[in-house]
Amino acid sequence: MLADGSVVRHVHEAPREARRIKVEEDILARNDALAALNRKVLAQAGTFAVNLMSSPGSGKTTLLVRTLRELKGRPLAVIEGDQQTDLDAKRIEATGVKAVQLNTGKGCHLDAGMVASALPKLPLQKGALLFIENVGNLVCPASFDLGENRKVVVVSVTEGEDKPLKYPDMFAVADLVLVNKIDLLPHLEFDVAQLEENVRRVRPGAPIFRVSAKTGEGFESWLMWLRG
Ligand code: MG
Ligand code: ZN
Repeated sequence: MLADGSVVRHVHEAPREARRIKVEEDILARNDALAALNRKVLAQAGTFAVNLMSSPGSGKTTLLVRTLRELKGRPLAVIEGDQQTDLDAKRIEATGVKAVQLNTGKGCHLDAGMVASALPKLPLQKGALLFIENVGNLVCPASFDLGENRKVVVVSVTEGEDKPLKYPDMFAVADLVLVNKIDLLPHLEFDVAQLEENVRRVRPGAPIFRVSAKTGEGFESWLMWLRG
């Protein structure tokens, strides 16, 4: 080592990028292990879990509230992810469905460990549907398996038609894409066909349903998909 310590410094700085990647891989590997446990817990309980992801403001909570009302009679549970507040959990509980709020603080996604901490607080049972509303963010939630059975991506017509091309990782993992707020289409210059074509470019084969959480338009397909 040199008197000024420069050799040591260089030795530590050169692999910084490699070390960052290694840390990310370790985080994801640990997450995947916990997600596998969640999947086992859910399967043993007979509960089917759906992870809802989108950018902020796409109308996930409104969509969820209407969905829960439409599914009344079936055992239901919700995990709400947000950085701060329990506002969305309160909206959900107004429907009579049990909701656990998870606040991520500075974090921008839910991870499998957080979901694991919420599962014992929920009425998981045979035939139940568990909705996990992820933090509004089209980037890293795509990388974090929560142990869910299906991933649903919500995109609203107040966003750009190019969202799937800008955030391909998110759309690439979608089992279903919901195009929300179609009640607003008469007031917008939005090309739904173009959006759907962009979805197909990054995620060929995933069903795409046009819905309005406000009016209930298009909900038959979404509810049928959930029941199937
Ligand atoms: Mg919400
Ligand atoms: Zn994140």
